[in-house]
Amino acid sequence: MSKETPLLKLKNVSKFYYNKGLVASGFSKVSLEFNLGEFVVITGESGSGKSTLLNVLSGIDSYEEGEMYINGEETSHYSEADFEDYRKTYIGNIFQAFNLVNSYTVYQNIELVLLLNGYDKKNVHDRIIDLIKKVDLYKYRNTRVSRLSGGQKQRVAIARALAKDTPIIIADEPTGNLDSKSAKSVVKLLSEIASDKLVIIVTHNYDQVESYATRKIEMHDGKVREDIILKDTNKKEIVLYNYKNISFKNKIRLGIRNTFNILPKFLLTFGVFLFVVLAFLDTYSSFRKLEYQESKFGYNNFFHNTSDERIIINKKDGSFISDNDFKKIENLNNVSYIEKNDILLDTQFYLNNDNYYFNGYVESIKNITEVSEGRLPENEYEVLIKGNEYDYYLQNVDKLYEQNFKLYSNYGNEIEFDKPLKVVGVIYDNEVYEDTIFVSDVILDNIRKSLNEIYSKLKVTLNDNVYNVNNYETYMNVTPNKNVNPGEAIVSNDINYLCKNSWCRNNDIKIEISNIYFKESINVNITNLYTKNNISSMLGIKDYENNNGRIYISYEDYNKLYNKNTFQSSVFANDVKNVDSLANDLDNLGYKVLKMKDSTIDELGQILKVIKIFKFIVTIVLCIVLFFITYFVIKLIQKSKNVYYSTVRILGGSKKVIKDLITIELMNVFNLAYFVFIMFIGLCHMNILHTEFLDDLIKYLSLKDYILIYLILSVMSYLISMRYSRKLFKTSAMKAYNEEV
Ligand code: ADP
Ligand code: MG
Repeated sequence: MSKETPLLKLKNVSKFYYNKGLVASGFSKVSLEFNLGEFVVITGESGSGKSTLLNVLSGIDSYEEGEMYINGEETSHYSEADFEDYRKTYIGNIFQAFNLVNSYTVYQNIELVLLLNGYDKKNVHDRIIDLIKKVDLYKYRNTRVSRLSGGQKQRVAIARALAKDTPIIIADEPTGNLDSKSAKSVVKLLSEIASDKLVIIVTHNYDQVESYATRKIEMHDGKVREDIILKDTNKKEIVLYNYKNISFKNKIRLGIRNTFNILPKFLLTFGVFLFVVLAFLDTYSSFRKLEYQESKFGYNNFFHNTSDERIIINKKDGSFISDNDFKKIENLNNVSYIEKNDILLDTQFYLNNDNYYFNGYVESIKNITEVSEGRLPENEYEVLIKGNEYDYYLQNVDKLYEQNFKLYSNYGNEIEFDKPLKVVGVIYDNEVYEDTIFVSDVILDNIRKSLNEIYSKLKVTLNDNVYNVNNYETYMNVTPNKNVNPGEAIVSNDINYLCKNSWCRNNDIKIEISNIYFKESINVNITNLYTKNNISSMLGIKDYENNNGRIYISYEDYNKLYNKNTFQSSVFANDVKNVDSLANDLDNLGYKVLKMKDSTIDELGQILKVIKIFKFIVTIVLCIVLFFITYFVIKLIQKSKNVYYSTVRILGGSKKVIKDLITIELMNVFNLAYFVFIMFIGLCHMNILHTEFLDDLIKYLSLKDYILIYLILSVMSYLISMRYSRKLFKTSAMKAYNEEV
């Protein structure tokens, strides 16, 4: 640097403050030059513009008139970022109000400025310890600044200003808050570093610094009243350190430190985020729940039993499900119940006699241990019924117990049993709107057989003619009868005209059945013909009118046709939340699976889409409202951190750095809150924890949803930190700071 180029130069610089239409002058038309090696003391009464001058020299505040030169370079065209660079490379500030981070330790305060200026964490330790020793605070290196006395804080501020190797140290009343003894040591310290730097200090107490000062400037009413050189100084070559930006790793470090260093604030933010996660998931899951219930009640016409726990299975290779297969399924985790023939679940039956009718779905009696009225069954032909207490049919149950019943499928087919059925007990359940008939395994077996019949196509070939038989008519219907021998058939005399020579005896009948799972056929020989008169003696049937036209065959042949293993079953999980994992296990065992909880049959297409879009919009609006609530709450909580972020800014942190620090901090808290929430969900899944709220949540949310919500909330945290940092940078660093102090 040549003699002609001063390090800092002000030429007719003025600084005005605009306040609600009024203009106040900070200082006006000030011209000054400063050089390395000087120890400049500025004095003047309160309000004379000293602090304003220092702030302009530090690049913390802007100026309105004139020109400031840094190392000969004009600065009137400087942008905010240029001044940030300038502060980074040139300025070490010591403030009257210290501007320390109270929640940091002495060490961390000094470390902060170094990390912000791109130093590597592992290279700064010795340097910081040296500085701390220099200001005589080694004993307090790990003490939080809030616990220190004023003098000690001032020394931390000095150590921090020295940490960065800048050519200029600017100190605003560094001894203002100190007792005379501390003041003395602080001034001495400053003078020691002045030898190769430019030190500019403001003080009220000129006596304290007189012996060290090389120059004295007195301010009065915004102007320089007096500027006296007291000692000659040796001009030095300027050495500038090339400051980098803070590294990503150190941003993360600081972010984590800031997350936890003020515990109450952390807990508060944590609570807010936990609340947001819950509120958000609740909103979202209720959206899913509605969507889901709609699919259940409005648009699912194929299945009656829409229990969420139900999984329908077929073998992938199309074969039947053997007893061995069922054993394997029983041994899977999370299985509560297997309905071997799952058609049962979707078909209604009714108990009927001359004066009573009870309609319901059939279920196994196995798990029933008590009844509301009557008693538990004692043999296989005794059944229980379940229904609403106020049901018309359940008003005089006592009378029921004595009666005989027949069981019919909803299609009108009678299910045949060796003995009449009896109702022996009733279970009241006023929450169900469908009634149930609980029956023994023997009854279930017969029902399954009949169901195979109901769901099969029946083809009869007689005299080379093929007849497709309607299941609901008696004509040509194939029916088992005890009085018929295997391989034989007894048919109605009325169908004689279908046979050769109008005589069917000794004709063969081919009976073929088929359904979606299997085909079967038998050949039987007609050995006899029944009429209205002999049907009773020949077959033991009294009602000729309702049975005429049937083809009676032996039970053996009938079983050959219909008593098949099952091809489609339903497995019930013990809990909705285990359905997915159970379905997965079944898939691995070789089954095609259909999860009832996921089966939506979208019949109303467009309308449903519109409803969905509407709900989607409502959800979005709720999210936005939630966003703003969160933003304002977080902002309030963060407000006390404004001082911190203004300090970071003064120490050289750019807008981006501050935005990143806030993002990291918020993301930390948010992730922790989310993690804790997921832990609760996990406990809920493992059945360790039971709350209705969480149970309800996990019922309708899948992994995909959790990820989606996580992403949305992450974006929200990011937006909050963006908004926050934008606001912070709307004013100058000093103003932002002062507004908070
Ligand atoms: P000193 O530090 O010498 O006591 P300052 O530099 O703080 O004086 O103030 C100089 C003048 O600028 C004073 O008249 C003061 O009222 C005015 N001033 C300082 N800061 C502001 C501000 N933020 N807004 C308006 N006026 C201000
Ligand atoms: Mg001042």
